[in-house]
Amino acid sequence: MNREFDDLLHELKQSLKIAENDYDLNNIRSQFLGKKSRISKMMKQIGSIEPAKRPLFGKKINEIKQQIDSLIVSRADEIEQHQYEETLAKEQVDLTMPGVQPPVGSLHPLTLMRRELEDIFISLGFDVVEGYDIEDEYHNFDALNTPENHPARNEMDTFYIKASNTRPKQSNNRLLLRSQTSTMQVRTMENNQPPIKMVSIGRCYRNDKPDKSHSPFFHQMEGLTVDEGINFLDLRDILIKFARLMFGESIQWRFRPHYFPFTEPSAEFDIRCFKCYGEGCSICKQSGWIEIGGAGMVDTNVFDIVGIDSEKYTGYAFGLGIDRITMLKYRIPDIRLLFENDLRFLEQFR
Ligand SMILES: [Zn+2]
Repeated sequence: MNREFDDLLHELKQSLKIAENDYDLNNIRSQFLGKKSRISKMMKQIGSIEPAKRPLFGKKINEIKQQIDSLIVSRADEIEQHQYEETLAKEQVDLTMPGVQPPVGSLHPLTLMRRELEDIFISLGFDVVEGYDIEDEYHNFDALNTPENHPARNEMDTFYIKASNTRPKQSNNRLLLRSQTSTMQVRTMENNQPPIKMVSIGRCYRNDKPDKSHSPFFHQMEGLTVDEGINFLDLRDILIKFARLMFGESIQWRFRPHYFPFTEPSAEFDIRCFKCYGEGCSICKQSGWIEIGGAGMVDTNVFDIVGIDSEKYTGYAFGLGIDRITMLKYRIPDIRLLFENDLRFLEQFR
C-alpha cells in the first residue's frame, strides 16, 4: 500500500513540475483527487478490507489526500508568485527616468504679433475688423482719393486679377490683390456712421522684388477713428501710446511730414533704431530711425466719397507695417525669414 502511495506522490510531483497555470492545476486536481482518481478507487475498496484494519486504512487515505491537496496548493502559490513577478517586470516604471516630451507646435511670429496688436488696440478702445485680400480698384484707390494717374495704380506695382472669359469684363472696377489695408477704412465708413474706432490687420500685395526688407506680400494694420472734434493730437497720442506698449516706456519716436492721397495733413511715424540707438547702422540705413507706419487726418474728399458729413466730423487714420514691427520686436534681420517656413527659425517662437 505504501509503495502505491509513494508512486502516486511521485507522479503528482512530476505533473506539478510542468504545470504552468490554473488550467493545468485544475486538471491535476481532478486527475489525483476527482471521482475517477486512484484515491477514489482505493476509498471504494475499503469495504473489502478486514474491519480491524479499516480505521488505519481510512486515516492513511485521508493523510495522502491532504498531502496531495497541499502539494497542489503550494504549486498554485508558486505559479501565482511567478506570474506576479513577470507582470511587475513587464510593467516596471522607473520614476527617475526623464519624461518623453510630446512635440508641440509653435505660433508664427506674425500670429504672435497680430494677437499682441489686437490686445493693445482693444485696450485702447478700438474694434477689430476683418478685411479681404481680393479687393476692387474702387476700394483700393478711387475711394481713397487716389488720382487716376497715381503710380501705385500702375500694373507694375499692383497685382490685378484678370477677369476670366466666363465673367463679364469689369473694365471700370478691376479686381486686384489689395495693396493696402486702407480698403477697410472705406468699407467701414461706407457701412457705419461715426463714432468709428477700428483697426484691421491683414495681408497686402505689391509687386516688390524680394530682399532683406521687401516682399511681394506683407502685413499691415489699418487704424481709423472718426468722431466730432478729433484732431492731430489725438492721432499723435494714440501712436505714442501704442509705441510705448509695444516697445517700452523709453522708446523714442518722431513724426515726419509726408503725403498720402487719403489723409491731409499726413506724416510718417518713426522709432529709434533698436540696433544702433541712433548712431546709424545698416538696419536703419544710417539714419538712426526706423519707419513703422504712415498716418494723417482723413481727407475731407474721402468723407465726401463714403457719405460722412465732413463739416461735422473729423478723423485720423494710420497704417502700421506689421512685418517691420515684428522684425523690430523679435530682432529678425530679414523679412524673408517670415515667409520661408523654415522650422529651425519658427520653432524659436513660443
Ligand atoms: Zn540703426
